[in-house]
Amino acid sequence: MKNIFGFLSLILLFACNNAEKKAVETDVNKPFEEYKNNFINELWQTYPGWALGVGKHDFDSILVIPNEDTRKKELAFANNHLDSLKKYPIEGLSNNNKTDYYLIENLLKGSIWSTTELKSHEWNPSNYNVSEAFSIILSTEFDNLENRLDIFYKRMANIPAYFEAAKQNIKNPTVEHTQLAIAQNLGGLAVFETELEDALAKSKLDENTKTELLKRADQSIAAVKDYTDWLKNLKNDNPRSFRLGKELYAKKFEFDIQSGNTVEEIYQKALKSKAELHLKMAEITHNLWNKYFKQPVPTDTLQAIKMLIDKISTKHVHPDSFQTAIEQQIPVLVDFIKQKDLIYIDPSKPLVVRKEPAYMAGVAGASISSPGPYEKNGNTYYNVGSMEGWPKEQAESYLREYNHYILQILNIHEAIPGHYTQLVYSNQSPSLIKAILGNGTMIEGWAVYTELMMLENGYGNNEPEMWLMYYKWNLRTVCNTILDYSVHVNNFTKEEAIHLLVNEAFQQTAEAEGKWKRATLTQVQLCSYFTGFKEIYEFREEYKALKGKEFDLKKFHEKFLSYGSAPVKHIREMMLGEASPTPPKEEL
Ligand code: ZN
Ligand code: ZN
Repeated sequence: MKNIFGFLSLILLFACNNAEKKAVETDVNKPFEEYKNNFINELWQTYPGWALGVGKHDFDSILVIPNEDTRKKELAFANNHLDSLKKYPIEGLSNNNKTDYYLIENLLKGSIWSTTELKSHEWNPSNYNVSEAFSIILSTEFDNLENRLDIFYKRMANIPAYFEAAKQNIKNPTVEHTQLAIAQNLGGLAVFETELEDALAKSKLDENTKTELLKRADQSIAAVKDYTDWLKNLKNDNPRSFRLGKELYAKKFEFDIQSGNTVEEIYQKALKSKAELHLKMAEITHNLWNKYFKQPVPTDTLQAIKMLIDKISTKHVHPDSFQTAIEQQIPVLVDFIKQKDLIYIDPSKPLVVRKEPAYMAGVAGASISSPGPYEKNGNTYYNVGSMEGWPKEQAESYLREYNHYILQILNIHEAIPGHYTQLVYSNQSPSLIKAILGNGTMIEGWAVYTELMMLENGYGNNEPEMWLMYYKWNLRTVCNTILDYSVHVNNFTKEEAIHLLVNEAFQQTAEAEGKWKRATLTQVQLCSYFTGFKEIYEFREEYKALKGKEFDLKKFHEKFLSYGSAPVKHIREMMLGEASPTPPKEEL
């Protein structure tokens, strides 16, 4: 028997070797690299507005009119490229090219589905808005001001036709997206008024040219106002629901999230996580209660947890030292990671912490801004918000939210070893495709995963307060998924949503109201954090079991990140493929 098996494996091995030789002779990677360049060029010609958004300014003077012809062109682009992709056998591609292949394929299939099935061009009037691109042209210095104003002028030519096409497309809009469209379009008018006037005043253009520009700006403003008036007066007795419904939601999840799980599976996992988190929080609350309160523990466990969270949240930095606290945190995180051997941190690429620039003011506590795909050598910044000029009460509430514990978790998530570290690794296998089409679920999932990973390895000295705050923070991610799915698939009411977020996830009412609004206007994106987190964590455990004693957490992290911002399910396939045991020697 042994002989027969030996013989068989010899044949297989031989066949294998032949295939490998052939693959080397006709290396498919070189032509695929060329193909990718062509693809990106055609992508920008087909979607010039998208090109502008990522810093590719070759087609800025064209405003594409969103009519039937354009949709046909976009469909033809997708179908042609799906055909072209078939010429490149996946098995012959390098890992970097494989994941690029999958990302391109997903984009193309997703765009066909979006145009032919989702059809948000018929029901989402906020799809139609021109102001942002014009604002980028004025505020980004990719060319001198005079040239940019010339582009601005040319681009305005199609605005009336653009909104006429929008009116033709809209059939049965939702009330929520109609209101959003009115507010955003009117809000965006400033770019044709004050922003343009300021730019003209600074420019060296002659008076005639300035007059022409202002004349066309007036026509543009009139077209926007005509559109918003049309929306306000639209007879819409049976408006479409903002809820996507089970089928469309599941499909959108497939294309946007690119998970190895169905959305139903992820939803069930989120429900389970919520229950587990509540149990862990209850246990901590019982153990810590006497340290913080003289009164007995309330019988309502969720209420007890909330009281303790409120109490512990009062431990926070002074508003003036918010940025300093963050700056001082970064080296502490780096030291901890080194000491515990969790992942290699490249010392030649330190993170620059800065006060958030004016155009971001008032938006977020902290965020990473990385250079776009076309800004070579741009800096990566850690933007930190300041509370200058905030009313005392507002600042206090903000500082309680980003208290002593949460601030550390935020730094792990945004900076090290979260988003910033992932970015440094992904830049080591440069791929324009991944810079443009990178998988947001993997990116967010990694940042959320590192929060737990750091605490598991003893960051914060296993202080129960730290764990309680972490659980609260993680509960937000879990409940984002439950909320989004419940709203779009299970007809969750606003009351049910607020109850979930305030009573079960311990959020402030204002935050919960904002989240409800976001869930009515977007679909699926709120699931990305939990889905990515869960998939990475589960994969790590699977890999650990497979490797047994050989498992090395540092190596796992470095290997995982080496694939760039690709969907977790594809990274998993490739890592498991490489980890599969080689046949024992004697069989050769
Ligand atoms: Zn305080
Ligand atoms: Zn994030």
